[in-house]
Amino acid sequence: MSAVVVVGAGIVGSSVAYHLARQGVPVTLLEQGPAPASGVTRDSFAWIGEAGGHWPGGAEDLRPYVLADHRRLEAELPGVTVRRTGSLHWADGPARDLRPRPGQFIVGRSDIAALEPNLREPPGQALHTPSDAGVDPAGLAHALVAAARAHGATVLHGTAVSAVRVTGGRVDGVLSSTGFHPAATVVLTAGTDVTALCEPLGVDLAVTASPATLARITAPPGLVKTIVARPDFEVREVRDGDLVMVVPYVEGATAPPEAAAHVALRQLRKTFRGSDQCLLSGCRTARRPMPAHGPVIGYATRDRSVYVAVMHSAVRLAPTVGRLVADELATGRPAPELRRCRPRAH
Ligand SMILES: Cc1cc2nc3c(=O)[nH]c(=O)nc-3n(C[C@H](O)[C@H](O)[C@H](O)COP(=O)(O)OP(=O)(O)OC[C@H]3O[C@@H](n4cnc5c(N)ncnc54)[C@H](O)[C@@H]3O)c2cc1C
Repeated sequence: MSAVVVVGAGIVGSSVAYHLARQGVPVTLLEQGPAPASGVTRDSFAWIGEAGGHWPGGAEDLRPYVLADHRRLEAELPGVTVRRTGSLHWADGPARDLRPRPGQFIVGRSDIAALEPNLREPPGQALHTPSDAGVDPAGLAHALVAAARAHGATVLHGTAVSAVRVTGGRVDGVLSSTGFHPAATVVLTAGTDVTALCEPLGVDLAVTASPATLARITAPPGLVKTIVARPDFEVREVRDGDLVMVVPYVEGATAPPEAAAHVALRQLRKTFRGSDQCLLSGCRTARRPMPAHGPVIGYATRDRSVYVAVMHSAVRLAPTVGRLVADELATGRPAPELRRCRPRAH
């Protein structure tokens, strides 16, 4: 019997499986899609950093470890590269709305022009976060799963879990499209689907699905140097000549997401010199798991047979979360860093 079955090979499940396998814990990772990162992870903007951004609930306690854990994975996993470009953020409103936190700096027009030499009209002021970076989210998930396998994990794709099975009042595994998989502990890392898998267990996680649109653009290499966040789009280069852009998602809009992507592309062309050749190569709207009160990580049932890990900004958090969850499951000792992330409903 596999000690731990992990359901869902997005960035969270891949990280949990890797860190468990690395500790020698027998683990089986089940993914309904044909490969890791079949869910929202593949469409992530994948901006990582510690200084700026939102850190709801217990996420704040994970903040100090984010960059170190990404650096560690970069060293541990072949082919994983963190693009350390820094970020520039500016708003339409007055510059006083930009409030630097430790590790962030207000920079003026000439510094902005030096950081982003292709900007047609650099703004007067922007927030610069030198430590911000980006990763290839699907590449990272694939590398984590490959390394989990190398450490002895069993990985099954095309395996959709329909239910957590309860026998004699205790969870003993999961039912799936490839049959029953026994487990002493089931870890649910199925993103937005965690809610439905928990419901029959009487566990309400208050996780909603929040749509967001990612556009992929082919561009001259080096057109965008940093991560640029403006009120109407965010853009960064993922590899030479390939950009990703977060495009505003309009709730209830009748036009397809490509329409919004074309509007953002026009804005990109207005913003960057030399961008006339930029072309839209793809665009998808994906549903991000969005817990109401920050990350939800911990045992969901009293008998400690079902464990959940679901959060927003999971690309940023997954290396740290995977490490802490695996420690907790392997040693039985609660991780103090996860104290404020515990599921509320038991
Ligand atoms: C446009 C956009 C921009 C974003 N920008 C950022 C950013 O800059 N930084 C950041 O950190 N985050 C960002 N995010 C959010 C981030 O992508 C998510 O928080 C993260 O990918 C969630 O990972 P996950 O592993 O929880 O979920 P998922 O990636 O959805 O993984 C869940 C996996 O479980 C599988 N699964 C589901 N149900 C079952 C089942 N019943 N049986 C078996 N398998 C199942 C799915 O197929 C999927 O592979 C962004 C998202 C979007 C869409």
